[in-house]
Parts: sequence; structure tokens; C-alpha cells
Amino acid sequence: MEKKPYSLRTNIGYFLNKPIGFSRSFNIAHEEVFIQPDLNVKQLKSAVTFSRTREGLLLEADLEGSIETACGRCLMLFYIPVKTIIKELYFFSQRSQEDSDMVIPENGYIDLGEIFREYLLLELPINPLCKHDCLGLCDQCGQNLNVALCEHQLAKQIDP
Ligand SMILES: [Zn+2]
Ligand SMILES: [Zn+2]
Repeated sequence: MEKKPYSLRTNIGYFLNKPIGFSRSFNIAHEEVFIQPDLNVKQLKSAVTFSRTREGLLLEADLEGSIETACGRCLMLFYIPVKTIIKELYFFSQRSQEDSDMVIPENGYIDLGEIFREYLLLELPINPLCKHDCLGLCDQCGQNLNVALCEHQLAKQIDP
């Protein structure tokens, strides 16, 4: 599959000169994107709002998309739809309290791809299934039993 490198660098630097309460909203929609370093997403949609606060900049976004993952039983790659809400505060660097705080970079640009990826992956089930009745793999030969039965499974059916 063709992978389009995805970078959603957004300039937020100009917010620093805006009054507290100033906000700006925009929509993002991508049919198919690749978010560095490892995530394929289809039908990525997001409604993003940035608001200037006392401490920095508040990011609020509704985010949805189908993310590529491997089935927990048969290991096939498939897309699973996920939906989440982002709320993050980016601090002005000089007021940052801890290393873990998100800080507005000197150049004023942040990469939304990074934070989208983080939030999308949090919504991934621990054991995702390509379908609820996925048959998985044969434990002896590794055959994908959704595709075809192997001799081991046929033998079990005859003599369970
Ligand atoms: Zn499966
Ligand atoms: Zn087998």
C-alpha cells in the first residue's frame, strides 16, 4: 500500500501575542495518511480548537479515524475505527513547571500528527479482533483458519 508521509505542522506561535480567550478553530480531513513513525490511518477527521489561556495554549479536538492494527488472533492487518477527544495544554516555555509538560517550541510550530497518533493508539483495544468470530491460526502449523482449514483442524473435526 502506498504510504503518504503525514506531517501536520501547525503554526501556533502567533497566539502568543493574542489576548487571553482568543481562539481559532479548523477542520482536518484526510482520506488516508501515514503518521510517523508507524501508524496508518484512514478517514482521519478532526475538529480542532486552539485557545489562548493564561499559561499557554489549550488544544481541544474531536478526533476519529480507522487505524491499522494486527488482529490478536490471526495477526492479519486490518483497520479498526476509533474515536477520542483531545484536551492538552501547551505551556509557554518560561512558565513550564516540569519536563513532562508540553511546551510551545521556540519556532512556534507543533506537529499535530504526533499528538493524534498518541491519542488514537490509546483507543486501541488490548486484543483487537479482525471480526468477532475470527478463527485465528492453527497452533501447530500457523495456517490462518479464516482462509482455509489445515490437516490438523480437519483431523480434529473427524476425531475431536
Ligand atoms: Zn483475525
Ligand atoms: Zn495446522
